[in-house]
Amino acid sequence: MAQWNIVRTSDAVWLAPGEPREIESDLVSRFQEEYGRAASGTWFAPGRANLNGEHIDFHAGRCLPLALAHGTYVAAAPRTDSQLRMRTLDASLDDGVSTVALDQIGPAAPHAESPDPSEVAELPTGDAEHWSHYVTGVLWALRELGRTQPEFQLEAGFGADILVISTLPIGGGLSSSAALECAAMMAFVALGTPLGLQNPLQDLNAALTRENRKQLAAACVRAEVEFVGAGTGGLDQTIAMRARPGKVLSLDCRDFTVQPLDIGCILRGYRLIAVDTGEAHRLADGKFGDRRADAEAAAHLLGFTRLRDALPEKPRKADVTHVLEEFDRLAEQLESLDGRSIPACRRRLRHALTEMVRSEKLHHLLSGEAYGVRHVTSTVGDILTAGHMSMRDDAEVSFEVADLIVETALAHGAEGARLIGGGFGGSVLVLISPAAIPRLSAAFERISRNIRLLDVVPSAAAHAL
Ligand code: ADP
Ligand code: MG
Repeated sequence: MAQWNIVRTSDAVWLAPGEPREIESDLVSRFQEEYGRAASGTWFAPGRANLNGEHIDFHAGRCLPLALAHGTYVAAAPRTDSQLRMRTLDASLDDGVSTVALDQIGPAAPHAESPDPSEVAELPTGDAEHWSHYVTGVLWALRELGRTQPEFQLEAGFGADILVISTLPIGGGLSSSAALECAAMMAFVALGTPLGLQNPLQDLNAALTRENRKQLAAACVRAEVEFVGAGTGGLDQTIAMRARPGKVLSLDCRDFTVQPLDIGCILRGYRLIAVDTGEAHRLADGKFGDRRADAEAAAHLLGFTRLRDALPEKPRKADVTHVLEEFDRLAEQLESLDGRSIPACRRRLRHALTEMVRSEKLHHLLSGEAYGVRHVTSTVGDILTAGHMSMRDDAEVSFEVADLIVETALAHGAEGARLIGGGFGGSVLVLISPAAIPRLSAAFERISRNIRLLDVVPSAAAHAL
């Protein structure tokens, strides 16, 4: 995948987050060339890493994400003719300007069951996989939000010209989709809603309350789930909209409350790096949805609408064993679960439950409640690695290169390593001492020439530049 922000050092290939002011100035001049007018501003939203909590946001579990310095920039200017024109500068996706007539996009959820044909969204290119759906979906979701929240009510006839550039790998498990959604959302709020129009760009960052950011993240989730049709559970959009610099967010997906936790205690003398395997995934295809459906079938058998409720408030390993025994008892006489393999559903269940226990453990550790743990970093590392084994053996979403990267990282002295994101491609998060990185990155080069490293520095949420 062509990436413009590649930095080659003697021992590795890094993806740099770039200098925001330089990226902005370049983007704004390309906007002028593309649309023949000036951009009104530039907005940024970060990608993310996740210490734990993969495939459990949609089960109302706890996740521990942090925002990257890498992310997606959107330059935009408003229109008054209900047209949305958009172009991406990502070399692998760029096919010129896509135009959508926003008044063709109906009020009903476009992917709702048995939709009224008159209310179905008009798709920009007839290609349901086209990247521009993420952006159109965001504007659709903001319009829906504006129906109940006057401060987000879009001006009649609102449309926009937008230009996108990203310092993230696309489809690399670092949430380029949510970064695109949240950057576009910030642009649309700034240019088309009362909240944005009453506040100059810089002030908007301060004017958005925590509650506003929560609502906007939820609208971005609607865009991805209902408009694009991808199975996201809200983790990615929440961290992109609500991150805090220097912190991990402990996100409880039961009600989307967040608690910022200090990460300094694990990074003292250590670094987190994301290893982009160069194997991009597509979450919208069947496999991700399949894994989720397996786990939901298991939840259904146990009598829960969300799996988090199968565990007590402070879950432990023994609680997982107990739920699995209950599952075995209920499944004993059955041949399948809603047509799904029972052993497979049990493995998905075990991943979700153990992942939830790992999240609670991490929350406990990072919030300083775990007195007496002397080696916080190595304990966190062990949790990372256990998370990978669960992604590999139970969720079954890992792949050869990711497994090799984890093994190689551990063999080179990493404290821990795990696949992050939805899987079937994507990135591995590694916790390691800086001194070990040169030898490790040389070893990665021998696994695949497509590997890229990203420094994981806990960064800020979506904002206007
Ligand atoms: P991830 O979020 O892990 O990077 P996804 O499969 O969820 O992977 O999202 C990737 C998709 O998001 C791309 O295929 C594209 O449709 C869209 N996308 C993300 N970033 C950009 C970008 N900079 N320009 C255009 N489309 C993008
Ligand atoms: Mg995504």
